[in-house]
Amino acid sequence: MKINPDILPELIQAVSHSITEHSEEVTELDKAIGDGDHVINLQRGLHALLEQQAELAQLDWASAWQKMGLTCMSKIGGAAGSLIGSLFVTMAKTAKDKPVDSAVFAEAFLAGVESIKLRGKSNVGEKTMLDVLLPVAQQLQAQAANVEFSVVLQQLSDTAIKGMESTRDMLATKGRASYLGERSIGHIDAGAKTSQLMICAIIDILQSK
Ligand code: ADP
Ligand code: MG
Repeated sequence: MKINPDILPELIQAVSHSITEHSEEVTELDKAIGDGDHVINLQRGLHALLEQQAELAQLDWASAWQKMGLTCMSKIGGAAGSLIGSLFVTMAKTAKDKPVDSAVFAEAFLAGVESIKLRGKSNVGEKTMLDVLLPVAQQLQAQAANVEFSVVLQQLSDTAIKGMESTRDMLATKGRASYLGERSIGHIDAGAKTSQLMICAIIDILQSK
């Protein structure tokens, strides 16, 4: 399956819709162990991406990801802004001058998620977005070349949900939630939840193709 950047408007709209639909739920999560601004931060970035959607659709993948990365960095703010921005900018660097098939996409996405680890000085098990993003990226990388695309998509969606739910019982050791120490246990991380929502929204669109 070959997917071109002209799918970006549909993906950005679906992601934006899903975050808005779940905004109260995520804000409650972020209020419990963060400062409650995560949805507003994301929506600022998504609003800017919606404004750029027609332009993004005309670019190649590497240029589109580069532009999206810079927009996320400058518009989202908070911890998430630089982390998500770095994901896209690294994806752009990895895919530059390559035709993007599912194997190159998987390689680029994994490199992007690794850049979040570097920038955030964080890893899985610390109750962050990485608990969703890293298992999804690793599974995609392992399966992109040899498992049928529709099967991979369903499994990625399950992995994202499992990763999001796994953060509930974790002790936060990165980000604002870490200030709460033991009191962070028992709440799902807001960034893990929005990462899962975004991944599942994208998968829903791809499954409808
Ligand atoms: P802030 O914490 O600055 O208010 P946001 O509320 O927008 O920023 O984003 C918080 C989310 O960012 C957290 O829920 C967590 O998933 C993620 N996060 C915070 N710090 C890190 C880090 N060092 N590494 C990975 N993810 C992080
Ligand atoms: Mg916050």
